[in-house]
Amino acid sequence: MIDGDAKHRVLKDVFGFAGFRAGQEEVVDALLSGQDTLAVMPTGAGKSLCFQLPALLRGGMAIVVSPLIALMQDQVAALKLAGVAADAIHSGKDRAANVAVWRRAAAGRLVLLYLSPERLMTPRMLEALTRREIALIAVDEAHCISQWGPSFRPEYAALSGLRERFPGVPIAGVTATADVATRADICDRLLASGAALFVSGFDRPNIHLAAAPKTRPTAQLLAFLERRRGESGIVYYLSRRGTEKVAGLLRDNGFPAVAYHAGMEAAARAECQDRFVTESGLVMAATVAFGMGIDKPDIRFVFHYDLPAGIEAYYQEIGRAGRDGAPAEALMIYGMDDIAKRRAFIEETGAEDARKRRDHARLDALLSYCEAASCRRRALLAYFGEAAADCGNCDVCRDPAPLVEATEDARAAISAVLGTRQIYGSQHIVDILRGKATDRVARAGHDRLPMFGAGAGLAPEEWRGILRQLVAAGHLRIDVGGYRGLEATATGRALLAPGGSFRRRVDRRPARPAGPAPARPGADARDAADAGLFDALKQLRLGLARERGVPAFLIFSDRTLEDLARRRPTTREDFAGVHGVGAAKLRDFAGPFLAEITRHSGEGRRP
Ligand code: ADP
Repeated sequence: MIDGDAKHRVLKDVFGFAGFRAGQEEVVDALLSGQDTLAVMPTGAGKSLCFQLPALLRGGMAIVVSPLIALMQDQVAALKLAGVAADAIHSGKDRAANVAVWRRAAAGRLVLLYLSPERLMTPRMLEALTRREIALIAVDEAHCISQWGPSFRPEYAALSGLRERFPGVPIAGVTATADVATRADICDRLLASGAALFVSGFDRPNIHLAAAPKTRPTAQLLAFLERRRGESGIVYYLSRRGTEKVAGLLRDNGFPAVAYHAGMEAAARAECQDRFVTESGLVMAATVAFGMGIDKPDIRFVFHYDLPAGIEAYYQEIGRAGRDGAPAEALMIYGMDDIAKRRAFIEETGAEDARKRRDHARLDALLSYCEAASCRRRALLAYFGEAAADCGNCDVCRDPAPLVEATEDARAAISAVLGTRQIYGSQHIVDILRGKATDRVARAGHDRLPMFGAGAGLAPEEWRGILRQLVAAGHLRIDVGGYRGLEATATGRALLAPGGSFRRRVDRRPARPAGPAPARPGADARDAADAGLFDALKQLRLGLARERGVPAFLIFSDRTLEDLARRRPTTREDFAGVHGVGAAKLRDFAGPFLAEITRHSGEGRRP
């Protein structure tokens, strides 16, 4: 049995941390006791440590399955810097390099071996591994195994053979995204029955949440970015071509920006990712192809130009912001067209009906989130089964939208839909209600309907808002099989009967900014005297990272540099006490960092 001292010793000596974060120790303990485990923890919570630490303590070699080369490279580089014998076999390396890694694994000289699912599941590899002592098998981004999930990967499906193949070896699934359905699916496919399940706080309280109707999207985007010049962030766009257009537009407006989508050459994609991770203040205009495996802690915003696929996808996408814990912001703009497009996508997948139903349900959940009349965070967390109080850090909490009585408006809208045979989209319905005699209205004779002009008192955006809210509430539905027209549902028709009642949210016009731009990470934690040293340490870190060809934050996090700038250690002993400094980093980096601190203090900055 491994005692608690051993755990804490490894935590400090290898990783340089004084304690576990919430949720980590339970997972570590379950794996140490040999139990299959599913750990669902939000991005940035420290999932990798949950399987890396038991790997170091259990004896034998741990296998880590990861869907992306970039993810493997970052984790392996971080482990090597911490002095851990880790390496990876994947298609991004040449054969000789992969063979060399395998030789070390076969000789028992590796503690962690990272593999892509394709490499792991070859008969030869499985055969070779079953002859070795395996400490544990960790499946990173485990939701990729779920065929229900938004990011199913066919290569992951084969992993369901692992449980039988490695009896007695604990398997860990780790993921940041899994609603109840996905969790059950991962357990079914990957783990023994009765596996331990740990779900820890889904809340990312530092991310400000907001959503607004799409009125003038380009202007909305530019206004949002204007207050965030110099910060890194992602603009998610639905179409590939759109990402290029947006990147161009941003550059024309003085924002450094690049586009990223799955249609680009692999080399160009890798270059974009590299730039985004290493440069600061770059805006990435991307499709959802971008994001998984991006380990950049200081992404300050995620702007959804188009509606995500569903609430789970949305949570995953915004979760890339603010991993360093400093304030970050998520804004989504959406309109009826987005909803229709998403519905049509689901129908066009050709998936089985059960899958389509589930995807529609995820989209429904996102729409009610969009139209939420009370705290958005509460709505989001409720979807993942977590209860919460009002957060005070979303647009609804900060500036609640009033709810007003709107039963007659809802009836007029539903009557207009029914009176036009349920084949028209929202624009036409709004034209009828507002009494606008467009060619289309005149040709169809809709200017003779009793509802024509009945809603002239409300502005077109207000009517669009009412229609969206009726869709979000399930009173209207978009017929994606036919002409994408609006249809009244049974509950919608029921609203027409006596006793029916509907209240609507009055949208703020125009969408008001979310308050002052968030402060820069750690800005208030450093006083002016430290700032100079902090910048010098950052420069030093960048140089060391370049020499080693790794991203700077793998050498030391900003938090470690802040700690150094504040505490100004002068001895190796003091240096060892700093957050993030383990034995290997003490050995490799104490020299240059102590020298820099001494040099800086010698310039008269010593307090
Ligand atoms: P996830 O995979 O959950 O998104 P990571 O495993 O990449 O998160 O960890 C996020 C950051 O948190 C990393 O920089 C990691 O070094 C740091 N971290 C992990 N565990 C701890 C801990 N116990 N104390 C302090 N920092 C930690």
